[in-house]
Amino acid sequence: MAAPTPPLDQLGRPPGVLRLSLTARCNLACPYCCPDSHDPPELLTQAERLRLVGAAAELGFSRLRLTGGEPLLHMGLEELVAALRPLRGARDGSGSSGLSEIALTTNGVLLSAERARELRAAGLDRITVSLDGTDGASVARMAGLAGGAMAGEAVLEKVLRALDHASGAGFDPARGALKLNAVIARGRNEDQLLLLAELARQRGIELRLIEFMDVGNRNGWQPDLVLPAAEMVRRIGAYWPLEPLGRQAHGTASRWRYRDGGGHLAVVASISAPFCGDCDRLRITADGVAYTCLFASSGLDLKPWLRSPSAAGESLSGAMRSLWGRRHDRYSEERAEEHSSGTVTIQRSHAEMAYLGG
Ligand code: SAM
Ligand code: SF4
Repeated sequence: MAAPTPPLDQLGRPPGVLRLSLTARCNLACPYCCPDSHDPPELLTQAERLRLVGAAAELGFSRLRLTGGEPLLHMGLEELVAALRPLRGARDGSGSSGLSEIALTTNGVLLSAERARELRAAGLDRITVSLDGTDGASVARMAGLAGGAMAGEAVLEKVLRALDHASGAGFDPARGALKLNAVIARGRNEDQLLLLAELARQRGIELRLIEFMDVGNRNGWQPDLVLPAAEMVRRIGAYWPLEPLGRQAHGTASRWRYRDGGGHLAVVASISAPFCGDCDRLRITADGVAYTCLFASSGLDLKPWLRSPSAAGESLSGAMRSLWGRRHDRYSEERAEEHSSGTVTIQRSHAEMAYLGG
C-alpha cells in the first residue's frame, strides 16, 4: 500500500527521525546532562510504545532512535526491538511507510556481550556509545562519579568492553553501525580531544564530538564552556590532517575524513553552526510527551490519545500529524542570531536532556 503524504511543518520540514526515550533515569550523572533519579509517574507501557512508533512510522518517521536516560536500564529493550519488526518498511522501493532503521544511544556501561548479541538478533541496526574521556579521572569528572579516578577507571573499562561486545555482536564500525559520542566542554575535558580521536581511530570507530549544549535548566551552561566544533576540528586536524565531507541533509553531524586513511570524524555544532533549517526530529519522552525541539520548554502529552482515544476525539496519528503541522521551532538559529546581534533575550526554561533523550 502506498504511504500517505508526510505532513510538512510550518517551515516546510518533513518528518524523519523519532527519538523515543525509554526512561529518564540513568546509572551515570554527567553534570552537563543532570538526569533525574526517578522516572515520571506514568511511564508508557510496551504496547503504548509500539502504537506510538507505528503511528509515527505511518506519518513518515522512518528512523527510530531508542534513548533515555540510559535505555539499557529498561529491561524490556530487547523485547521492544523485536516487537518493532512488523513496522519495518518494505525495502522494495514501493514507497510504503515503515521503519528503515532502529538505533540505540547508550553510555554502554550495561552492554554485556549477551545483551549486544540479543539486541542484534532482535533487529537493532546501530549503536552509538557515549564516552567523554580516556582515563579514570576525566571519565569520573564527565560522568559525575563520586568515587574519583578509581570509579572512572571502572566505568571506562566497562565502556571499552561494551565497544568490543558491540562489534563482536556484528555492529560493524566500518559500516557505521557502531559510533562513539563525546561531549566536549572547554576547560573540563578539552584535553581529551586528541586522546579520544586516537582511541576511536585505533578501533576504526567514527568519533562524533558534540558541543556542550544549553539543554535543561540545571547543567550550569555558559557560552564560554562551549568549545566550537571548528576549533575541535582544527586541533585534531593539526595532528591528523582532515578533509571535509559536509553534513548530510537532515543530519546533525558534519563529517570529516582523515587523509591518512584513519577513518572518519564528525562534529555536532548545534551551538556554533545550528542546523534547524532541515531538522526532521521528533522526541517522545518515557511518559509519552512529544517535543518538536530539543530546546522546547513544553510538549504535547500523547497519553490521552493512547489511553482514551474516543474521549480525545481524534486518532493518535491525527494528533501527531497536527502537532507536526504546527511546528515552527528553530531555537538554535534564534539563539545564534540573538548572540550575533548582541540582543540576547532568549532565557527560556528548557526540558531536561535525560528526560528528552538527547
Ligand atoms: N544515556 C545515553 C547516553 O549517554 O548516550 C543516552 C541519553 S543521552 C541524554 C544522549 C546523548 O546526549 C549523549 O551522547 C550525551 O552525551 C548527550 N548530551 C547530554 N547532555 C548534553 C549536553 N548538555 N550537551 C550536549 N550533549 C549532551
Ligand atoms: Fe546518563 Fe547519558 Fe545523561 Fe550521561 S548523558 S547522565 S549517561 S543520560
